[in-house]
Amino acid sequence: MSTNPSYAGPIDGQPEHPPPPQPNCPGNHGHTISRPTRVECRHDPVACTCRHCFAEITTQTSHKAGLYSWLLCLLICLAGCDLGCCCIPFCVNCSRDIVHTCPNCGKRIGVHKRL
Ligand SMILES: [Zn+2]
Repeated sequence: MSTNPSYAGPIDGQPEHPPPPQPNCPGNHGHTISRPTRVECRHDPVACTCRHCFAEITTQTSHKAGLYSWLLCLLICLAGCDLGCCCIPFCVNCSRDIVHTCPNCGKRIGVHKRL
């Protein structure tokens, strides 16, 4: 019986240590600056990071008469309703711009314009 001298390779037993697992959670690390992105301003308050004070906030919305209000006013005037009807666009929220402000620092985050 010829035993096959199968060459069992040298056992350099030391398995390489895998590199220590690095926590790679975005946003969890001090390095990763969660850059305040442009806020998608909508009708409703939006949760975002304030670009002024960098706080996690939900914007406060307020309505402001904008170009759309004036245009509607003009249209109503042209239509002949001048008995105060032209003021309606300034009272109805759906025709006004929506200003998003930070409740923390009070600065303006963005404006949702009707036009
Ligand atoms: Zn702020």
